[in-house]
Amino acid sequence: GGLTGGEKGQNQEVQKEFFAMDTYMTFSLYGEKAGETLKDAEAKIRKLESEWSVTNQNSEIYQVNHSNGNPVTLSEDTAEVVRYALDMAKETGGALDPTIYPVLTAWGFTTGKNRVPKETEIRTLLEHVGYEKVILDGQTLTLPEEMELDLGAVGKGYAGDLTADLVKEHGLESALLNIGGNIQAVGSRPDGEDWRLAIRSPYGEGEVGLLKVSDCAVVTSGNYERYFTAKDGTRYGHIIDPKTGYPVDNGLASVTIVTEEGKMGDALSTALFVKGLDGAKAYWQSHDGFEMIVMTEDQKLYVTEGLDEKFTLSGTFSQMER
Ligand code: ADP
Ligand code: MG
Ligand code: MG
Repeated sequence: GGLTGGEKGQNQEVQKEFFAMDTYMTFSLYGEKAGETLKDAEAKIRKLESEWSVTNQNSEIYQVNHSNGNPVTLSEDTAEVVRYALDMAKETGGALDPTIYPVLTAWGFTTGKNRVPKETEIRTLLEHVGYEKVILDGQTLTLPEEMELDLGAVGKGYAGDLTADLVKEHGLESALLNIGGNIQAVGSRPDGEDWRLAIRSPYGEGEVGLLKVSDCAVVTSGNYERYFTAKDGTRYGHIIDPKTGYPVDNGLASVTIVTEEGKMGDALSTALFVKGLDGAKAYWQSHDGFEMIVMTEDQKLYVTEGLDEKFTLSGTFSQMER
């Protein structure tokens, strides 16, 4: 039978794909006011992008990176995300470091002109890296001269949280926000069932398994999407170990974090990828609030207990003993 007007409003479903924050986003919203909420959600992302971009000359982060050591007053959202990035840098022992940008540039990841820098060059650049030298006092940020800040490892996760909040404030109970592979699930599916998320394989086409979740963020970091191959055949990925200044090369293919907050998922997927399998396990054991799927280059998966009921491995892959 046909839907009545009221039911039609209830069951509204809208989807949009767009490019922002240097990646593709797909937003799927369900329920009354889904259409106008989608417009507001996209506008929110674009506003955050304009504040956080490293390249847009009008962005707050650009202002900070060209402040010559002078204090800069940040907006509330920007101060919050910078504070979170600095807190998580400390908490992860510097595996996450939002001041790694000069090193990233030396490797050409910010310009697209990839190269292998000389060791002396990396060593010199590392002198201008170190989250502990950044001073954030309320909304006032002071970045030492020659240092640069980049929210590449946490910004999309934080943007996901803020957008999920906006969607809920509009009264929606069901939405799936895909922010360049970061999944932010609001509520559950419109039919009340858990969302079923395919976890992409870092080893090629297809997926490693299926994850059933509601109301949470699922965020993956890996070196399989953004990398370059040097003349000698060595592959270099875009996640840098701040201790060495070299791209991470520790046998991991990817780290997926399942957590309530996108910001934590984004920060930890990057940081635990840097820490490696043993470091990631140790961090999980000593911290609450997240579960993880760690995938190694030799195609083994380490899955934490909290996902036993939620994650189903697909055929060809094997799970490591805990
Ligand atoms: P993606 O942006 O592909 O989703 P991540 O969330 O893992 O991946 O963030 C990687 C980005 O963060 C890099 O492109 C770079 O801008 C920055 N970055 C690289 N290494 C680090 C690091 N150790 N700490 C903080 N930021 C990093
Ligand atoms: Mg990240
Ligand atoms: Mg990410």
